[in-house]
Amino acid sequence: MNLHEYQGKELFRAGGIPVPPGEVARTVEEAETIAARLGFPVVIKAQVLIGGRGKAGGVKVVSNGAEFTREAGRILGMDIKGHAVRKILVTPATEIEKEFYAGIVLDRKYETPLLMVSPSGGIDIEEVARQTPEKIMRLHLDERGLPAYRARAAARFLDDRPAVRKQLVDVLLKLARVYAEQDCSLAEINPLIVTPHGEVWAIDAKVVVDDNALDRHADVAAMRDLGAEDPGEVEARGKGLSYVRLDGSIGCVVNGAGLAMATMDMIQFHGGKPANFLDIGGSSNPDKVTAAMNILSRDQRVRAVLFNIFGGITRCDDVARGLLTALDRIGTKLPIVIRLTGTNEKEAREMLDARGMVALSDMDEAVRAVIARASEAA
Ligand code: GDP
Ligand code: MN
Repeated sequence: MNLHEYQGKELFRAGGIPVPPGEVARTVEEAETIAARLGFPVVIKAQVLIGGRGKAGGVKVVSNGAEFTREAGRILGMDIKGHAVRKILVTPATEIEKEFYAGIVLDRKYETPLLMVSPSGGIDIEEVARQTPEKIMRLHLDERGLPAYRARAAARFLDDRPAVRKQLVDVLLKLARVYAEQDCSLAEINPLIVTPHGEVWAIDAKVVVDDNALDRHADVAAMRDLGAEDPGEVEARGKGLSYVRLDGSIGCVVNGAGLAMATMDMIQFHGGKPANFLDIGGSSNPDKVTAAMNILSRDQRVRAVLFNIFGGITRCDDVARGLLTALDRIGTKLPIVIRLTGTNEKEAREMLDARGMVALSDMDEAVRAVIARASEAA
């Protein structure tokens, strides 16, 4: 689960990391009240679940009331890469001497959290990695978390002033603690700044909490902002489907995560592009199939749908029944290709036949068929 900047900052603040004060507003009037309380200059920051707000014009330092009203209205009306701005954070503008990067991410290859720091903060860390990889220091955490000597090495890499380094060590140790205690897969401060007076502040926060750990964090789970998330992913979660939206044109409805991955691979292999990953699980519940079809029909980019069902414990006839019920309910016009094999395959085929639908049994053939249908429909 992705957190908004202001929510990530709450976790940082609770963990003792120095974060400037600030409040969230949904309207210009609310924002004006906050600005009046804080005093100018302030920064107005769009709260959307996507990075690069600064570049898109969603972060603005303002120094007086008239400018504030104009900019708050402008940013509240913005759309950043398909994310409507519904909330803004108003926070005192900090003077910046240096911008650093500090982030902890789960390194899946080494199965260990990885701390990355860079003196080139404020810009995308991917960009730094491409252009000037020597400006990134990488340190793996271990079962103790971040040992103090490693935090000191990281701080030395960032700044040579002892008083600044001391604050940096403190921030890095606390960041590692927040990362572990909140079950994060990412905890990032970009930029972590030093003021001209040598004070260190976290002025941005990007936090991702592992969905599977949310049962342990009721307070974090309550931060979920359904309005800011992809509607398909919200509906899928509600119906117990694993769904990830992608950029292609071929919708996939598959039972089992492994088969879903294999289906996507095969679509790519034959020159198509999957529109999603979707695992309906070991279930043939018509509600789940209906939800899956609903999600895919709403996605404008989907040109054709492939049902790929391997009947084991899940019986093919149950899935076919679910599919027919779902089609009766929503009446989609999308071309559908069905591939099923396994338990009760024959019964399923008869049911689909009776409705004029053909089910294939070969996966390769089905994938090629759905790609052809999608390009006819494009
Ligand atoms: P992002 O673009 O979505 O990562 O948003 P950030 O919060 O990182 O802000 C982008 C940039 O705006 C930062 O790198 C800073 O240069 C600038 N910025 C953000 N907050 C402040 C602030 O309080 N004071 C000043 N002077 N600049 C800020
Ligand atoms: Mn940032």
